[in-house]
Amino acid sequence: MPFSDLNFANKKVLVRVDFNVPLNADFKITDDTRMKAVLPTITKIISEGGSVILMSHLGRPKLGFEERFSLKHLVSHLSQLIQQDVKFCEDSIGEKAQRMAAELATGEVLLLENLRFYKHETAGNLYFAEELSKLADFYVNDAFGSAHRAHASTTMVANFFPENKSFGNLLENEINNLEKVLTAPKKPFTAIIGGAKVSGKINVIENLMDKVTDIIIGGGMSYTFIKAQGGNIGSSLVEDNQIDTALEIIRKAKKLGVNLHIPDDTVIADSFSNDANQAECDIAEIPEGWMGLDIGTRTIEKFKTVVKNSATILWNGPMGVFEMESFEKGTKAIAYSVVEATANGSYSLIGGGDSVAAINKYELGEKVSYVSTGGGAMLEYLEGQKLPGVVAIQQKEGFKLNEEQ
Ligand code: AMP
Repeated sequence: MPFSDLNFANKKVLVRVDFNVPLNADFKITDDTRMKAVLPTITKIISEGGSVILMSHLGRPKLGFEERFSLKHLVSHLSQLIQQDVKFCEDSIGEKAQRMAAELATGEVLLLENLRFYKHETAGNLYFAEELSKLADFYVNDAFGSAHRAHASTTMVANFFPENKSFGNLLENEINNLEKVLTAPKKPFTAIIGGAKVSGKINVIENLMDKVTDIIIGGGMSYTFIKAQGGNIGSSLVEDNQIDTALEIIRKAKKLGVNLHIPDDTVIADSFSNDANQAECDIAEIPEGWMGLDIGTRTIEKFKTVVKNSATILWNGPMGVFEMESFEKGTKAIAYSVVEATANGSYSLIGGGDSVAAINKYELGEKVSYVSTGGGAMLEYLEGQKLPGVVAIQQKEGFKLNEEQ
C-alpha cells in the first residue's frame, strides 16, 4: 500500500531516517537537507495521531558512545523543524528506550541515540533488530541513503513487522522515480554518465545499455575511451586496466544500436589547478604534459543537442572538474540544458553525489524532475541490484542474510 494511504492513528511507529548530517566543531548542523527530506513522513504520522520513534546513524563511531556522534545535538533543530518538542533517549534499545517509547503520547516524537554506538547495527544483528522492534507496532523505512546496507535498522528489523511495515514518503519517492527511468522510460532516453572513473560506473552503463537510446560519456572517464581508440591523452586521468572495458562498451553500444556520444574536444590544462594555463584541443590530440579537465566547446554543443531531444534524461557524474571555476563550463552547460529539456516536458533524474553537488551549486535542483538523495544506494539501484532495505519492505518474509554475513 502506498505510504499516503496508510493511517497511523494511535500507532507507535519506528521510523528509520538518515540524519547523518554534517556537524561543525560546536556540534551545530551545517546542512540540514537530510532532516528536511523526511519531514513529510514525520508530520503525516503525528498529524494522524500516531507517535514517532526516530532512529538513525550519524558518522562512523568506532566503539560505543562518542560525544561528536551523539544524535542529541540534533534535538533542538529537529524540534524547530517540526515545531514541537522532541524527546531524546540516550540509548537506542533496552529498558529506558522501551519505557520512553511506551510513554509517548499521541503525536509525540522520540529520537533514539545513534544506532552505530552498537556494533550490532552494521552487523545486521537479529537480536539488536528484535530489541528495536519492541519499541513500536509499525516500522517505516525512510532512509534511502542506507537502503543498500543489510543493517539491523534498515533491513533486519523489518522481519519483526511482517504485516506492519512500509516505505516512508522519501524512500517511496526515490524508488518511484528510479523505476520511472528503469522500466518503460519515454524514448528517446539519454543517460549522461560522467565523473572520475570508468570502473565506478561500468555496472551502471551495462545495466542501462538495453534501456537507453543514447549514452553521453563525459568527465575523467572519457579519456580512457579515447586512449582505447588510440588517441593521445597527455597526462589526463586514465585507467589502463579499463581499456578493454571501454572497447567492450563501444562494441556493445554498436550492437544494440545505442548512440554512444564521446567528447570530440576538451579543455586542457598544464597542471591540476584552477590557475593553470589552459587551452582547447581535439580530445585525441592532447599534448604531452597537458591534461583534459573539461569537455570543449564543440562537445558542449553536441551534448546539448542530444539532451534537448531526449524525453527521459538520467544524469550521473560531472563533465569535468566542476569544483574549479576554470573547468566548470561543461558541467554547467549540461545542467542548464537538462533544465531546459525539463521545462519543455522531458523527465529528468539527477543522482549520485557529484552531479547532485553540481546541480545544487547552480541552484537548479527545483528545475529538474527529481534529485535523488542516495549516492551509493542510487548507483546500486541503477546497476540493477536488489537493495536489502527495499527487499525487506517489499517481501512479506523480510530479508534473509546470506551465509557470509
Ligand atoms: P564520481 O564521484 O566518479 O562521479 O567523480 C566525480 C569527480 O570526478 C569530481 O570530483 C570531478 O572533479 C572529477 N572529474 C571530472 N572530470 C575530471 C577530469 N577530466 N579529470 C579529473 N577529474 C575529473
